[in-house]
Amino acid sequence: MDGEVRTQVIVVGAGNAALSAAVAARERGADVVVLEKAPRQHRGGNSALTVHMRFPYDGMDELMPLLPGTPSTDLRRMADRIGRYTRADYYDDIMSVTEGLSDPELAEVLVTQAAPAVRWMSSYGHTWIPTYANPVSANVVSFNGGGYGLQEQWFGTAEKLGVSAYYNTSAIGLLQDSQGRVTGVRTKTSQGYCNFRGRAIVLACGSFESNPEMRARHLGPDWKAVKLRGVPYNTGDGLTMGLESGAMPYGSWSSCHASPQDLNRPPFDVPGLDIRGDFWSRYSYPFGIMVNLNGHRFIDEGETWRGLTYAKIGRAVLAQPQGMAFQIFDRKHRQLEVIRGYEKATGFKANTLQNLAKQLGIPDISAFTHTVHTFNAAVQPCEFNPFRLDGKSTIGITPPRSNWALPLDAPPFEGFPVVCGMTFTFGGLRVTPEARVVHTMGYPIPGLYAAGEMVGGLWHGNYPSGAGMMAGTVFGRISGVNAAEEAFQTHLSSL
Ligand SMILES: Cc1cc2nc3c(=O)[nH]c(=O)nc-3n(C[C@H](O)[C@H](O)[C@H](O)COP(=O)(O)OP(=O)(O)OC[C@H]3O[C@@H](n4cnc5c(N)ncnc54)[C@H](O)[C@@H]3O)c2cc1C
Repeated sequence: MDGEVRTQVIVVGAGNAALSAAVAARERGADVVVLEKAPRQHRGGNSALTVHMRFPYDGMDELMPLLPGTPSTDLRRMADRIGRYTRADYYDDIMSVTEGLSDPELAEVLVTQAAPAVRWMSSYGHTWIPTYANPVSANVVSFNGGGYGLQEQWFGTAEKLGVSAYYNTSAIGLLQDSQGRVTGVRTKTSQGYCNFRGRAIVLACGSFESNPEMRARHLGPDWKAVKLRGVPYNTGDGLTMGLESGAMPYGSWSSCHASPQDLNRPPFDVPGLDIRGDFWSRYSYPFGIMVNLNGHRFIDEGETWRGLTYAKIGRAVLAQPQGMAFQIFDRKHRQLEVIRGYEKATGFKANTLQNLAKQLGIPDISAFTHTVHTFNAAVQPCEFNPFRLDGKSTIGITPPRSNWALPLDAPPFEGFPVVCGMTFTFGGLRVTPEARVVHTMGYPIPGLYAAGEMVGGLWHGNYPSGAGMMAGTVFGRISGVNAAEEAFQTHLSSL
């Protein structure tokens, strides 16, 4: 087959950013086609493996409409634990984790459009539940049914609105006219090649995290063999197609989101009813200590909220000998219920530190016990409180420890081996605040938009949890609206 399909707006990908774009464009009245590389049964992208999205809120009154069906006891408990998270807090968190490198204009669009985008999603039937894990200032609500539930809701909405989805359809190139306007997408399907012609195209097909060659080229050779936390489909095709069409690369192409994962996590995940994306995540490290195979600590585990550190910790783990580390806890951590989600974790337990080190395979046992004893001696006596930045720190050790420092002196001791898990890469295409892709010559490429992880410039070296999904909806929605408007102003016959 070498067929041709004509429509108004073409959206490449079927993750959260893509479906936000498709629904927004259809809402404006455009005919919309979605092209998705994955088979239908594994649709949803990394978005289907997620938990929450980060948006500002003023208090319970604003959150209540998002939480239908939540038992009143849970709502009361939540009301006791949460405060407010302002747009300024959000902006400051973005700038603090990226060391001021996030594009201020794009960051501003994200923080100002986040809450309206959540209300828009709610108008399409998306619902949330309270986040039951340790409360933090942001991400106090999670998707009802997880990312899988969110994506199924998006697919249902898109279908109801009349968006056509083509699965097993991989975009392989952009079609352009002699003036440089993007006029369509060339695809490879299971039946052969097909050209989709449209008046505006939204690229929302993820970053290059699943492409070992691109990872090695941009992030460094150590990244070639890392395990993926998500889908194997995000091989940077949209970025490559965009660059081939003259788009400007933007943002941090040499950094990424990567977090500590169970040693035995599979090499990737695909969406499905039984798959919970965070099953393999090992995120209780701010409360214990992390050591490498030499028995040494290598980061401040409690630098700040977990949601503001976890995305850079995968990189730190990968840099250790054999690219692995061990998270160490004792009985107190169990009693305080700060080890969460480790029920089926790869782990070891022992009544002495020496035996734990032996089981973990740390060759220099005395180096390990020395690390623990030195850490214990450095812990300051103030009160431990997992619900706030408690300032319970250490004095006189390197790396320092800023919060939640508890001595490891109460057996049994537990140790969990972790490796680096790649989530997504930060480099992308330059877009305007209207989500139009910018040419290397500085002007927006006619007919071309980008959303989701394809947008460059927001994240550098680190990232605040929940912001990927939120940026996906915000820029997806903006790109869909503007793509529809452009489609109405462009005559298909001229393509
Ligand atoms: C396990 C896990 C948990 C996470 N948890 C959170 C969380 O709780 N909160 C949060 O904000 N972020 C989270 N993230 C990050 C989040 O998944 C991303 O920020 C978000 O999904 C990006 O959305 P997207 O639409 O750009 O990409 P995706 O959802 O990955 O969608 C991209 C789609 O494009 C398709 N595609 C790729 N190439 C092509 C092609 N050539 N042609 C056609 N289609 C193509 C893919 O198959 C995929 O369906 C998590 C990620 C993982 C892996």
